[in-house]
Amino acid sequence: MRPFHVLAFGALVLPLSAFAADPHSYAQPDQVRVTHLDLDLKIDFPHKQLDGQATLQLDWKDAKAPSLVLDTRDLKIASIEGIDAAGKASALKYVLAPRDKELGSKLTIATPQHPAQVRIVYTTVPAASGLQWLDPEQTADKKLPFMFSQSESIHARSWVPLQDSPAVRFTYTAHVTAPKDVRVVMSAINDAKHPLNGDYSFNQPHPIPSYLLAIGAGDIAAKETGPRSAVYAEPSVVGKAAKEFEDTEKLIETAEKLYGPYAWGRYDLLVLPPSFPFGGMENPNMTFATPTLLVGDKSLVSVISHELAHSWSGNLVTSAAWRDIWLNEGFTTYVQGRITEAVYGKTLADEEALISARGLQKTIKDMPENAQRLAPKPGIGADDSISEVPYDKGSWFLRTLEQRFGRDTFDTYLKGYFAHFAFQSIHTEQMLDYLKANLIDKYPGKMSWDEVQAWVYQPGIPKDAPLPDSPRFDAIDKQRAAFLGGSLAADKLDAKGWNTQEWMYFLDGLPDVTPLDKVKQIDAAWHLTGTPNAEIGMRWYSHAIAAGDKDVWPAAAEHMTRIGRLYLTMPLYKAFAKTPEGLAYAEQVYAKAKAGYHPMTQEAVQAVFAKANKNSK
Ligand SMILES: [Zn+2]
Repeated sequence: MRPFHVLAFGALVLPLSAFAADPHSYAQPDQVRVTHLDLDLKIDFPHKQLDGQATLQLDWKDAKAPSLVLDTRDLKIASIEGIDAAGKASALKYVLAPRDKELGSKLTIATPQHPAQVRIVYTTVPAASGLQWLDPEQTADKKLPFMFSQSESIHARSWVPLQDSPAVRFTYTAHVTAPKDVRVVMSAINDAKHPLNGDYSFNQPHPIPSYLLAIGAGDIAAKETGPRSAVYAEPSVVGKAAKEFEDTEKLIETAEKLYGPYAWGRYDLLVLPPSFPFGGMENPNMTFATPTLLVGDKSLVSVISHELAHSWSGNLVTSAAWRDIWLNEGFTTYVQGRITEAVYGKTLADEEALISARGLQKTIKDMPENAQRLAPKPGIGADDSISEVPYDKGSWFLRTLEQRFGRDTFDTYLKGYFAHFAFQSIHTEQMLDYLKANLIDKYPGKMSWDEVQAWVYQPGIPKDAPLPDSPRFDAIDKQRAAFLGGSLAADKLDAKGWNTQEWMYFLDGLPDVTPLDKVKQIDAAWHLTGTPNAEIGMRWYSHAIAAGDKDVWPAAAEHMTRIGRLYLTMPLYKAFAKTPEGLAYAEQVYAKAKAGYHPMTQEAVQAVFAKANKNSK
């Protein structure tokens, strides 16, 4: 995905049993494991709910296990039955525990006979945390309703009862019905030529963790972008999206050259309505993406490189618990950079690595010490564990390894790592075991084990962490300093040819509170207010609001109402919340924007308001 964790520093690799339990799941996979899921669901738009049944194939590990424990959140369970090896079904007793705020409701099903399968008939609620339901007016084409899922981190349990832990992998099949004019897609092989008949079947033959279960449905058209790739989006968006992402096949071929064959068959993309809370989500075979990437010049295609990279790091080799999420995101951010470098050049790849590193240097200081660790100690929430640290510190560590051992050696190592752990879920310590044997000890004198331990288990960033050179960014640093110092006028900035990343870097380097007259001068010269580029807009409005420039408020409100992507919207809410007047304005904006926001975005905004209101009392 784009825009947690138990060890004493200094300890060597602990046995896997030390980490066997996933604190974010009630499941007991050491007793029984789900190996296959079969879904039969009806998408009910008027009631904003999924209706149907989930049949779980079980592999009993412990002969004495008295029950099957599943994760659920806000599911309405109608009945549960066990099915024996001969296919005979019988009702099972079950207990649904009171709802825990973070984990949901533990579902304990009494299974004295250890059935081969368990079938649960259920319905979701309209506010399911992993689903968003949009009315037609909240979509681009405003003709049909739209719905989509976001299961990472622990939201699959809000639409399917299952063992919702990344440690458990299962294959799945699904039969889904929907209104006739609606197209349904899932994180499985999709057929772009499937007739619009309201009746869809899916098969995911590779074992995946639950957070990669995904579904989307709406007024969706499809356009091929290559021999094994297509873009899916609303009819008015699909052409633009196919153009922006026309390099998809080139990206896949580049990744294959580096890390071995793409294991999943097709690689399709679904461009969602603007309320999608993330940049992209690496749902297998069908990346879900925000429309904010469609800027017309491919400058934000790195998010697609990122989601594609997850086909190796994350979907193939998966972190076994949310503490280990850096195994997904740090490796993926590194691979993303390599794909970007091969397809779009080293300059862009280095610029993106610098933006990521500088951003981390700025934010890590304010994080609690534990959150600064790649592999944190217990006590971090599943969603909270997804911060800049796993992405930016994780990828920085891998760039350091590449630099120390040389690119050829490190590429061979990484390819071997992906092959060795393919279709497994692993902990940090398993990765470290493999690293020690196959890189650190194999090529002595390049990096000490203490250094590795510091990267993984210490807070902060090691002092000698290498940064790429960027002459263009150096020039921007000089111009920014001259502008702030008064020796260079805003209209004399050499910004005409700046790409998205160069604008991002210029704005990222402005002081947290830039003087109002400087903000006014930049806007007069470069007209950033009203920019359709949301990466630039997010940075620009944050600075302008902090500087006290009320003239940008309506355009900032438009940005916040149009876009539900957390990373692009939350900084504006936080900037507004710093003053009572700004807070009041942001609350008005939210009242209008809320209906178009994903439940995760709503929760994040409300948390900002609650904190600001508490501080002002
Ligand atoms: Zn990611």
